[in-house]
Amino acid sequence: MELIDLNRDGGIGANSFFLKIGGLNLLLDCGLNPKKVGRLATPDWAPLRGEKLDLIIITHCHLDHIGSLPVVMRGYPGVPVLMTTSSAMLVGRMLHNSANVMLRQKEQDNIPDYPLFTHEEIDQCVKRFVGLQFGAPRRFRSGKDEITLTFHYAGHVAGATGVEIRHQDRAIFFTGDVMFDDQRTQAGAEFPPGKFDTLVMETTRGATPRTEGKTRAAEMARLVDTINRTIERGGSYLIPVFALGRMQEIMTIIHDARRFRRLVECPIFASGLGMDLVDYFDEISRKTKHIQFSRSLIKEMKVRPLPRQLKAGEDPGQNALYVVSSGMLVERTPSYTLASGLLGKERNAIGFVGYCDPDTPGGQLLKTPHGEKFEFAAAHVRTKVMAEVDRFELSGHADREELARFAVETGARSIVLTHGDPAARAWFMEQLAIRLPGAKVLDPVPLQRYEV
Ligand SMILES: [Zn+2]
Ligand SMILES: [Zn+2]
Repeated sequence: MELIDLNRDGGIGANSFFLKIGGLNLLLDCGLNPKKVGRLATPDWAPLRGEKLDLIIITHCHLDHIGSLPVVMRGYPGVPVLMTTSSAMLVGRMLHNSANVMLRQKEQDNIPDYPLFTHEEIDQCVKRFVGLQFGAPRRFRSGKDEITLTFHYAGHVAGATGVEIRHQDRAIFFTGDVMFDDQRTQAGAEFPPGKFDTLVMETTRGATPRTEGKTRAAEMARLVDTINRTIERGGSYLIPVFALGRMQEIMTIIHDARRFRRLVECPIFASGLGMDLVDYFDEISRKTKHIQFSRSLIKEMKVRPLPRQLKAGEDPGQNALYVVSSGMLVERTPSYTLASGLLGKERNAIGFVGYCDPDTPGGQLLKTPHGEKFEFAAAHVRTKVMAEVDRFELSGHADREELARFAVETGARSIVLTHGDPAARAWFMEQLAIRLPGAKVLDPVPLQRYEV
């Protein structure tokens, strides 16, 4: 197989792989880099020039995997776009939200490239999506050659899949983003036990050692305790979350705590997209066995939408719990604006529950010691870190030990690392050299062609 990593910036970035397997050319994922703007946020498709494309495959509906999909589809009008049936329900909704964000950014930040695609274009794209079931092999032909493709349930978020590709006697497996443990609303991955020749694996948590005693249940209890303490001292609690998956997971944890009278009474606010996606998750939950979520809990907890006009640098003083996107406090999102108002007051607290890129405001805040100055540049706010800032191990990505174990079980002779910061990839590089001494481990240089 020939492979080119099209994610021009490395790291997690804008995920996209170009693959040549036998006579077939495939594109796996078409993401957008959340840290970049305009055309530079997309993968670099230069190596595709002059090449035909037979299939586009989408592993799951997070923007770092689908954010530039309509741009690619525009260039390949006849090519089928394969994803799981759950992803086929969610991708369109995520892209429409992304188009709205780009339209807003175009005005606020004067970015002429935006929007990269229109709402009308997304509606056309959605019609081309082919939804596949987990565990059902499908054959695809080009000329005389054919490959067999099978999706394997990956946990992580609704619809996420690992991808098995077989060509002649070769077997290749892509983990996509994966979570092996059960989460509150989502069962852990069900990856095939078989052997593979080539493994392409995510490495998100490679730099995060497993901390003893920090079980998921213990972390959930600790989160609820800190919320209670904050509300009881008159403060407000902000949980920055990704609208897709994380928000529904956290809402369910909070609902459990309230049901068992472990959570104090307080108003709960949530932001737009996450609330909207609640309906999608409810529907997916009824159609698949892997997701357990009910939209009725939103009503039961009387969750309210955020006030429209949040003022940067101002504590709304509502003595409330906010479950608000973005998860990494990206500039100009509701969580960013809220944090700029809450951070300067000792009574408040902010609790991160997912991955925070070190270069995002969320990542920066986690590195800033208590009592020091923190700048919300896009909101023109500078404030001392007086609120409690905490992080909880409730990630939707696999623990590095579990991933390394999976890699060893596949017995792969070549392993390609993806979706991780340099330190995270370095850990896997070192560990796999020890644990799988016969294997060739590759940390691909973006845009370089490899035979694997
Ligand atoms: Zn993801
Ligand atoms: Zn991802």
